[in-house]
Amino acid sequence: MEKVIDESVQGSSTLLRDRENNSRKLYIESYGCQMNFSDSEIVASILSGEGFNTTSVLEEADLVLVNTCSIREKAETTVRKRLEKFNAVKKKRPQMKVGVLGCMAERLKSKLLEEEKIVDMVVGPDAYKDLPNLIREVDDGRNAVNVILSKEETYGDIAPVRLNSNGVTAFVSITRGCDNMCTFCVVPFTRGRERSRDPQSIVQEVNELWEAGYREITLLGQNVDSYLWYGGGLKKDFQKASDIQKASAVNFAGLLKLVAEAQSGMRIRFSTSNPQDMTLDVIETMAAYRNICNYIHLPVQSGSDRILKAMNRLHTREDYFELIDNIRNIIPDCAISQDMIAGFPGETEEDHQDTLSLMEYVQYDFGFMFAYSERPGTLAERKLEDDIPQETKMRRLREIIDLQQKHSLRRTQTHVGKVEEVIIEGTSKKSEEHWMGRNSQNTVVVFPKENYQPGDFVDVKIKDCTSATLLGDAIGFSDNN
Ligand code: SAM
Repeated sequence: MEKVIDESVQGSSTLLRDRENNSRKLYIESYGCQMNFSDSEIVASILSGEGFNTTSVLEEADLVLVNTCSIREKAETTVRKRLEKFNAVKKKRPQMKVGVLGCMAERLKSKLLEEEKIVDMVVGPDAYKDLPNLIREVDDGRNAVNVILSKEETYGDIAPVRLNSNGVTAFVSITRGCDNMCTFCVVPFTRGRERSRDPQSIVQEVNELWEAGYREITLLGQNVDSYLWYGGGLKKDFQKASDIQKASAVNFAGLLKLVAEAQSGMRIRFSTSNPQDMTLDVIETMAAYRNICNYIHLPVQSGSDRILKAMNRLHTREDYFELIDNIRNIIPDCAISQDMIAGFPGETEEDHQDTLSLMEYVQYDFGFMFAYSERPGTLAERKLEDDIPQETKMRRLREIIDLQQKHSLRRTQTHVGKVEEVIIEGTSKKSEEHWMGRNSQNTVVVFPKENYQPGDFVDVKIKDCTSATLLGDAIGFSDNN
């Protein structure tokens, strides 16, 4: 999920405020996309009602849960190494139980439990409400498994507990699963079909976050532009809905409007957008509301029509350019970022050059770039040979990254000399004397602390930059305070 894989937080353990009557200790570690980190907040919230307080000390845990990612082979290898570590601790502490959550649970269920016998419990992304029952099974000495994928579950009724939070920015999940069937991607198999969450529960969560002092939210889903609420159920079943359901349905532009109006001071971001599903009304809604940030994460994966087709991305290079032109016309200062895959099966040098020329056209602000990793069960694995040598994949990836760095610097430099609104998120990683926050375009801004506080909206005069960070001085509170 979201998508964005933040390498600095991979494997973070999750901490909750203790409940006095809870006597057991839960250690929970998360890998992968923002959706997984957001899910861990739901899991910790469910288990805090079941007698568990969280701990960051593995050796004192009664229950160890690892929320896993299957998107690339490397992600699974990392988790397997952690499972070895957990089992080493378990030898000295046999009462400790180990559970696998998330995408690997769905993909490897019986292998982890029965063949390799390295875990006590396997729980898929739609089965977290069953955790109390599964833990009772494990307590009684039996292995426990629930990897049933749901048509309905959105966890809209669970109030996630914000964990390791800066108290200023938060994720709000709006869809689960994905229907896109990109041939490289394991998500439809591990997270099931796409369903949307009730807009009223989303607005309620946003209102509660505002009351609790949060000032920026990111609406999360594998493909947010495909959001469609018509009373519940799978997106693919919308055609079977009644006329009333169809007439009162809420799409993503409608949801953005609802959220932006519910809390006009709250900054709103969203991730991830799929080009084939992003419509003009979303871009127009972004332009119409000051509190919706001017930033779109718009993965394209390849610049070659041939490869886009083989990936089952349902748009062409020309369609993508048209979308980019529309964004730039309607929101001239909108930042755009990409995901790119180098070395998809059959990719020629010409296809790779198409990717580089697409990047030259768009001039992305940021990028998340990967070498193709064949995933078992995907359409590409079943139908296409993973025929690009590793060194070619890595060389192409390097060229993509080098070009992106050049563009990132160029794009970041365009902010120098401007005054931009920043929400302070916390102390800069590099200096105790500086705050760090982001501008509307999602670029990190660092400036001297003076008397400002986290959560303040501050106007910052940008004086200098590196390729990824803007440096400036605060000139006062912005109108939004
Ligand atoms: N739903 C989003 C989309 O369709 O663009 C993002 C899905 S995924 C969680 C995040 C990114 O991982 C993808 O955009 C893609 O670039 C990358 N990815 C997914 N499967 C991959 C694979 N088999 N090998 C390499 N990268 C992959």
